[in-house]
Amino acid sequence: MEVFPGVHQLKVPIDQNALGYLNSYLIQGDKGCLLVDTGWNSRGAFQSLKEQLDGLGLTLRDIARVVITHVHPDHYGLAGLIKQASPTRFAFHLWEKALIEERYIEFAQLQNKMGKFLCRHGVPRQQAGPLEIASMPALDFVTVAWPDEVLYGGEIISIGDFQLEVLWTPGHSPGHVCLYEPSKKLLFSGDHVLPGITPNVSYNLQSGSNPLGDFINSLNQLRRLPVDLVLPAHEHIFEGLEDRIQQIVGHHEDRKGEILSTLSEEPLSAFLIARQLSWHIRDDWDHLDAYHQRSAMTETLAHLEMMRMEGRVERHSRDGVIRYELATLTGS
Ligand SMILES: [Zn+2]
Ligand SMILES: [Zn+2]
Repeated sequence: MEVFPGVHQLKVPIDQNALGYLNSYLIQGDKGCLLVDTGWNSRGAFQSLKEQLDGLGLTLRDIARVVITHVHPDHYGLAGLIKQASPTRFAFHLWEKALIEERYIEFAQLQNKMGKFLCRHGVPRQQAGPLEIASMPALDFVTVAWPDEVLYGGEIISIGDFQLEVLWTPGHSPGHVCLYEPSKKLLFSGDHVLPGITPNVSYNLQSGSNPLGDFINSLNQLRRLPVDLVLPAHEHIFEGLEDRIQQIVGHHEDRKGEILSTLSEEPLSAFLIARQLSWHIRDDWDHLDAYHQRSAMTETLAHLEMMRMEGRVERHSRDGVIRYELATLTGS
């Protein structure tokens, strides 16, 4: 589907996942095309991508360049297969490149560290097992490719009559990038800004020390950008970037308030806090599967760590468990 003159949206299926599709964007140039994100590695997704290219009279070999917004499986998983089939050049951010080895190649070590991390944040040892291995299935959906070009943010990528500025927007992932076309007022927003859902922002072994703070800063940077159309990686294309950013920032402020209210009685671990919050997927903690319980916990931690930076909460470690409490107000 041509969603803007010269830009096609390809809907690559994400099987058995509530998101349904990844929106990949194809921009046609004189010497090959540029693709933003690939979809994940499943036979159905690869087939669908090839069929949609075929519908445009193209093959994988016509894709000269791929920009990966971030290396989550649904955006990056097909990179290796595309690379095998075509001399396509891949570009992604330095901090995404830095995640690949640990996340997709030497994953056993990361998993082991994850188990310890979860216990430190209050998960009872006997419950840690399923949470520790909860992201293992994602490995099947990734074939690794390394970037031919490392991005830092600030680069201009020329394709046809598009001049795409690379905007580094950390938060959902440390090296997430958006692409901005100033003369056409288009923003390819990846998972950074979505019209209906908010992306998971987690504090974990691969996030920075304050991923939610990074995320909010990255959103605020986009606030005043002249943008007519936002082309996100999930859901639908939309207008009204500034209003959507306002809503997302407000949502996280509300969530912080909810977390603070769990701390009125006594210090609690992130595990015990997360159990008390409402979760939109199943609402009740006990009905969340291991993957969602872990995401819920690391998301709670992202809010707690941001509030710790803001001086609203403190954390203390006792008996090997980290607990958070309301900051004691000092001063006159
Ligand atoms: Zn993502
Ligand atoms: Zn995604």
